[in-house]
Amino acid sequence: MATFEIINTGTELLLGRTLNTHHQWLARQLCDLALTPLRQSAVADTGVAIQEAVREALTRADLIVVTGGLGPTSDDLTRDKIAELLGQPLRLNAAVLAKISQFYVSRNRPMPETTKVQAMVPEGARVVMNQHGTAPGLAMRVQPNPHRASGAPSWLVLLPGPPRELRPMFTSQVRPWLREEFPANGTHVSRTLRTTGLGESQIEESLAAQLTTLTSRGLEVGYCAQMGQVELRFSAQGATAAALVTEAEALARRELGPAIFGEGDDTLEAVIIHRLTERRQTVALAESCTGGMISHRLTNVPGASAVFLGGMVTYSNAAKVELLGVDPATLASEGAVSEAVAKQMAEGARRRLKSDYAISVTGIAGPSGGTPNKPVGTVFIGLATAQTVTAVRHFNPVDRETFKWMTSQQALDRLRHALIG
Ligand code: ATP
Ligand code: MG
Repeated sequence: MATFEIINTGTELLLGRTLNTHHQWLARQLCDLALTPLRQSAVADTGVAIQEAVREALTRADLIVVTGGLGPTSDDLTRDKIAELLGQPLRLNAAVLAKISQFYVSRNRPMPETTKVQAMVPEGARVVMNQHGTAPGLAMRVQPNPHRASGAPSWLVLLPGPPRELRPMFTSQVRPWLREEFPANGTHVSRTLRTTGLGESQIEESLAAQLTTLTSRGLEVGYCAQMGQVELRFSAQGATAAALVTEAEALARRELGPAIFGEGDDTLEAVIIHRLTERRQTVALAESCTGGMISHRLTNVPGASAVFLGGMVTYSNAAKVELLGVDPATLASEGAVSEAVAKQMAEGARRRLKSDYAISVTGIAGPSGGTPNKPVGTVFIGLATAQTVTAVRHFNPVDRETFKWMTSQQALDRLRHALIG
């Protein structure tokens, strides 16, 4: 199988000022193309560091992806230093220059002279156009490759640093081309199932024993715990790969049932919007401690407007009374963080917005405000449907931001269960 390395350039990555997200995103994309990872490194924005890393990678890898440093500023050295290493002269590419000037014209901004360097292309390189910025990417086949003992060629792909530029460039241009250049031998199969509501070890416990016959035949199993969800990945190689993965998936679905909410990159919010759309039903929200995060997540999904009617962030008691019609007497006797108030909030949102479903959350994110009966991390999640109004209690004793995320996950999952029930 073909091998790859990733080199991320950027002193800010080494200083811990920018989280190196390419590290993960690119590796995942390339592994999905059935390429084998050899190494990943991050290096400073210096000519020496960049050349040294690339020279070393050229001794090993079939494909080397280098990110960052393609911009117009003085610390952007990648293009120059790699062309120098390869002994390739850079030439001004008229098509790229036209594209860059068009970028400025369409934004009604003058084009700085320095941006011209981005139109310099090493001889024989392929250009990866950038729809979201000015620095194009470059792909070069290093052949002959004097750095490799076997003399085998290596591909070098250079992509700009900003994720919002790099990702679409990779997906729409680099990936299709890599598929042709490094065709999978058709025998690598992998499948990812996404679960929520169960812990990582809980999942492993319920599957491990039954999976042993499959793992002994070559199935690989990976568990990846994230905040409020666990990803389960099955993969295999060879002639029996598809059968092994299919069998493993069937087993997981049998054992874990509705805890599995999606596959691949599915998100809980996307699954819910899709499900509501199919059923031609609507949802409204009444959020307190999540501060709008559930609305935010739902509205990240294209098509949300067809099914999401609205959400109210009712942080104070007064807002709960005014906007949702919560009874002040209940607030006084039970407290804002209570099953009764969660139910009234959900009911109020459903009534006011005339939705099929309404979800509410009310809780104590902390760090202060807890009591012995309701410690920090206590949260009630209400659900109102045409038939019933219920609320359940959860306990998420974590920092505020994690608390909001986990609570939004639990609230969305309650709705999902109502939609599959
Ligand atoms: P630009 O034209 O924007 O300067 P560039 O190709 O020169 O693009 P860099 O200067 O290396 O890229 O990085 C630009 C920005 O992209 C950085 O400030 C950072 O926010 C982001 N970035 C760069 N590398 C990474 C990375 N590995 N992970 C996440 N973000 C990154
Ligand atoms: Mg830059």
